[in-house]
Amino acid sequence: MNRDYISRKKTKKIRIGDTFIGGDSPITVQSMTNTDTRNALATVNQIKRLEDEGCSIVRVAVPDNEAAEAIRDIKKSIHIPLVADIHFDYRLAIACMKNGADKIRLNPGNIGDKDRVRMVVEVAKERQIPIRIGVNSGSLEKDVMAKFGGVTPEAMVESALGHARILEELNFYDIVFSLKASNVPMTIAAYRMMSEKTDYPLHIGVTEAGTIYKGTVKSSVGLGCLLAEGIGDTIRVSLTGDPVEEIKAGNEILKSLGLKKGGVEFISCPTCGRCQVDLISIAGRIEERLSKVDKDIKVAVMGCAVNGPGEAKEADIGIAGGKGEVLLFKKGEIIRKIPQERAVEEFLEEIHRL
Ligand code: SF4
Repeated sequence: MNRDYISRKKTKKIRIGDTFIGGDSPITVQSMTNTDTRNALATVNQIKRLEDEGCSIVRVAVPDNEAAEAIRDIKKSIHIPLVADIHFDYRLAIACMKNGADKIRLNPGNIGDKDRVRMVVEVAKERQIPIRIGVNSGSLEKDVMAKFGGVTPEAMVESALGHARILEELNFYDIVFSLKASNVPMTIAAYRMMSEKTDYPLHIGVTEAGTIYKGTVKSSVGLGCLLAEGIGDTIRVSLTGDPVEEIKAGNEILKSLGLKKGGVEFISCPTCGRCQVDLISIAGRIEERLSKVDKDIKVAVMGCAVNGPGEAKEADIGIAGGKGEVLLFKKGEIIRKIPQERAVEEFLEEIHRL
């Protein structure tokens, strides 16, 4: 049953704090805080919520010195690698690395002359800190756009490779790339092209994807397509909302492709005219209560006797609806009938007994 249908492209393995991106390391889910980084306490609190939800790497924006200073306090209080996101100012990049950032996101072509890049690279080398080159369709260099007649996947790839050359000329190779567009087909095309041209690991994401519902759908389509082709070493779902939702969505994307093992696999039917129990409410309540269950199990919540028993038997615990009652299955066997009012409680009791 557990055949691997996806063959992952082998990329260079990069260390970031005590985690790895690329190579044979698991695909990680990351997010970015939306607190004011200068407010270390609020930022740490948000990061802890992200950690609880299964976030592997977290990024914070560093717009000024005060934010770069806050990196020190934030780093002390969290348990996952911290990435400092810097635009333009090489001094902030150096300060963040000295203050404990595990990785920086910086486009070397945007920070001025080569001496500045050299200074950043020296500190990064000394501390073995990788750099992510993050190309965004909204901020491509004018000359690159002129060459390709606007924002195109080719232009995004050329921009990323151009930034990388600056680092490689300084013998720096701890590089991760991202090429994000808000347009899903363009994002997919850019990453496909990049994956053919480089072995550096890829951080994949659809940028400015939208609000929680629309953004999750857009990201799932874009990232799902790439991941199914074996492209992508770390993912970020960008949502206008609580970043905890990004982690939930990211983990579900990986689980749905079998790229993340463990946790509860939840199967429920959409219900139809054959269903004679209030399955939507039962499934919703069970799913909610299972969100905090840390067991490697498969559960099925099914509406009737047509497809229900088949799926329920395949699960560790399952129910199949009848008339106002449900049949409870455990490891393929029917164990009893329960009135629908007791279905959620008894289902969960069985899960805890496993
Ligand atoms: S399991 Fe039964 S109720 Fe659910 S969708 Fe299938 S046929 Fe309909």
